[in-house]
Order: sequence, then C-alpha cells, then structure tokens
Amino acid sequence: MLKTLYNLPNAALQLLLPKYCIVCEEENYTSNKQICNKCLINLPVAPNSDYILNQMTDKFDRDEISIIGATSLISSSKDERYMNIIYKLKYNDFSYPAEELTPLLANKIKKEHELSNFNLIIPVPLHRLKERERGYNQSTIIGKILSKELNIEFSENILFRNRYTKTQTKLNKDERKQNLENAFTCNKELAKMKNIIIVDDVFTTGASINTASQALLQVGARSVISATMVFAGEK
Ligand SMILES: [Zn+2]
Repeated sequence: MLKTLYNLPNAALQLLLPKYCIVCEEENYTSNKQICNKCLINLPVAPNSDYILNQMTDKFDRDEISIIGATSLISSSKDERYMNIIYKLKYNDFSYPAEELTPLLANKIKKEHELSNFNLIIPVPLHRLKERERGYNQSTIIGKILSKELNIEFSENILFRNRYTKTQTKLNKDERKQNLENAFTCNKELAKMKNIIIVDDVFTTGASINTASQALLQVGARSVISATMVFAGEK
C-alpha cells in the first residue's frame, strides 16, 4: 500500500497521507507544509560563511581551500532532527522540503555575498550509477529553485563526476591531491570566467565541494562559493 502511495505525484500524496512534520514528527494540522510552524520558527540557523570557511582550515591547508564563501541554512549539529529534511530529499523523492526551505537559503546567500557578479549555479554531481539508482540528484532540485530565487542561470552540463572518490578526509595532503585528479570533468568553455555557486545538500567537511570547486578553477572559472541546505560540521 505504502509503495503504491509513494508512486503517486507529490500533490496527490499530500492529500492522502496523514500530515506529520518531517522534523519533529508530530501531527501537523496547522499548515499544508511538511515542516510545522514550530520547527520552522525554531530553525537552528547554520553559522555564517566566514565561520564555515575558517573551520575548513582544521582539515585543509589554507592554500588547498578553493571556495571563497560557504553559505548554509540549517545547523544539524544544534538539532539533529533537522537532518530528516535531507533524508526526505535523498530517499523519498519528495521535493517539498526543498520548495519550502530553498527560498530561505537564497535569502541567506544574498545577505552573506555580493552576488552581482555571479552568473552560474551548478549542482555537485552524483556519480552516474547513483543518480540512476535514485532517479534524481537532490542538489539539482535545490539548485533549480535557487536559480529562480536569485535569478542566476542554472546548468547541469558543466561539472561531471568521473568515478567514486575515496573519502577525502582520511587522506593526507598528497593523497588528497592525487585523489582530486580526474575526480571531475568540467566543460571548459562553459565554466571559463564564470563566478559560480556550487550547490549540495549537506556540508560536512567541505571536501567534495572543495574538490569540485578546484576542478572548476583549474579550467578557468573565476571564483566559487558553495550553498548547502544543511551544515553538519559544527563542533
Ligand atoms: Zn515540527
């Protein structure tokens, strides 16, 4: 029964399933949204861009850090129930949490960065096999909404993942450099001279975002900042 329900379009599903807030899991009759008003008001806001960049220096040398900004909306370290938003996005094929929260992420990006020179939004790509398995890339869902909110072009035809990469955090500096080589392919013509916002669902150590950003800079992109729904790396 549940399996059949999950195959229905989101709108139809909304009418059929009992309404539970995806964060606190309490019944939610107060709104049509997936996140109740209480959880929305108490959203644990992620630290600002400078704090996140600074924290990256725990794992990376300064000259290894290739992004110049890192905006994130929610801190899952302050309240890990908010991680449910990401699980929903990743495993249940629901775009609703992204529709409700991405406009808030867009506002935070506007506050933290001078966006007038930014001209491209791209998702961190999933490996092809993983995307086929899941049917979609959750970062694409967030990226497309950001594109509308910020009025900046979105493209999935610029950055591609070549192979599964080892987890960067367990490697030393030289191994990280080696692991980086050939991890991504970029469309040089489309990335050249661009100021890019790279989008992912979660920022933990920033390793995959940093790797992707480095690949973009190598083919001539001017600058890269990251935008993520959840920051999970706070100490
Ligand atoms: Zn709630």
